[in-house]
Amino acid sequence: MSRRKVNIAIAHTKELCPVCAAEVEGPLVRNKFPTEAGKKKIEEIDGKIIGWRKVPCDTCMELMDRAYILVGVIDAKTTDPKHPYRSGNTWGVKKEAAALIVNEQQMLRGYAFIDLNIAEKLNLPDIQWNA
Ligand SMILES: [Zn+2]
Repeated sequence: MSRRKVNIAIAHTKELCPVCAAEVEGPLVRNKFPTEAGKKKIEEIDGKIIGWRKVPCDTCMELMDRAYILVGVIDAKTTDPKHPYRSGNTWGVKKEAAALIVNEQQMLRGYAFIDLNIAEKLNLPDIQWNA
């Protein structure tokens, strides 16, 4: 009796939280009948970070229930405006205060990026310039 060979490729991927940059579980990528090249491609991303998650991680979502999150970035080191260079600084501020400095779309998202030079002008505390 011969066993039928199952030709399937599966990759358990990881993504980064857009707020805290923590590694979180990413999508399961699979292909039932991959070509050899396609199978190799899936094997190559197994266990790897494939990009930024669209929504924040659970920890950040919990924080966003209580505060608006400002994520410190360094515009001068940013190459991709969609994913600015994180400085390692984050602040939780009152939503009423955030509404004064971010636009409506950013308010709905629950977090915004803020260049450290702006953060300094706003007197946000404990700025780590080399974090
Ligand atoms: Zn997070």
